[in-house]
Amino acid sequence: MVVCVIDACGFVCLLIVYLSVSYADYVILRHILLFKYAGSIWFPVHTTLIHLLILMILVSHLRAAFTDPGRVPLPVTAIDFSDLRGGTPRTNERGNEDWTVCNRCETYRPPRAHHCSSCHRCVRRMHHHCPWINNCVGELNQKYFIQFLFYTGVLSLYGLGLLLTTWLWPILKEKSGEPEKVGFSITNAHLAHWIILLIESIVLGLFALVVSFDQVGSIIRDETPIERMKSRFSKDAQREGPHTRKPKMELLREVFGRGYVICWFVPCNGPSVSGGPAYSRLPDYDL
Ligand SMILES: [Zn+2]
Ligand SMILES: [Zn+2]
Repeated sequence: MVVCVIDACGFVCLLIVYLSVSYADYVILRHILLFKYAGSIWFPVHTTLIHLLILMILVSHLRAAFTDPGRVPLPVTAIDFSDLRGGTPRTNERGNEDWTVCNRCETYRPPRAHHCSSCHRCVRRMHHHCPWINNCVGELNQKYFIQFLFYTGVLSLYGLGLLLTTWLWPILKEKSGEPEKVGFSITNAHLAHWIILLIESIVLGLFALVVSFDQVGSIIRDETPIERMKSRFSKDAQREGPHTRKPKMELLREVFGRGYVICWFVPCNGPSVSGGPAYSRLPDYDL
């Protein structure tokens, strides 16, 4: 299901993401590859690899931004929660899942669902609301979000590598007394774009590294940041310990799908079709 959160700040962030990727594409193509590798076999090689990475970034970002992160459906008929105000846990008919009531959505929600004040909905296994995708990171789109971070990190590294070989390496060679035969002159425009690309690559690379470390860490701990924060304030939750003792590989498969590991890198088929967490997807409304 396609979703779109109406939020001006979110739209601006989406625009910044697409402009940043387009700018990196422009500088790499116009000011690095055409500048240094024109006429060489490396030009089509680098151009193909760079555009493959950009394609993966755009597809994974679009899917993270517009895929339903796991919104809890709203009830068709109003439900009387007068006896259940305050998020009191409620055990469903199967007796093994603590469903709670969301006062803001006016609905029952399954375990591990949390309310997002930006989306105005409860989202299953909500990690956080990310302005850069203008969507929640939840059970059904976390895979795409991590893929977006991964390919952003790889493109940043690639850009840094190209800058190193085109700009910094010749400077070092020159300083060591063996100048490289370049056969072209570096203009101020080249330098300005290279400096901006260097800053962009470092900032985006660090962002991707830190956020993906946090994402993968929360998957293998089986605890979202919201749950971690709640457990710090709740002695009961501390006594209960982690949500599950599932193996790490099983937890990763719940997010990335049950296919081959190579499929984890392809932004298609989310966990909804390839096996997500074991609890039921629709709440049992008690009217
Ligand atoms: Zn809610
Ligand atoms: Zn949200």
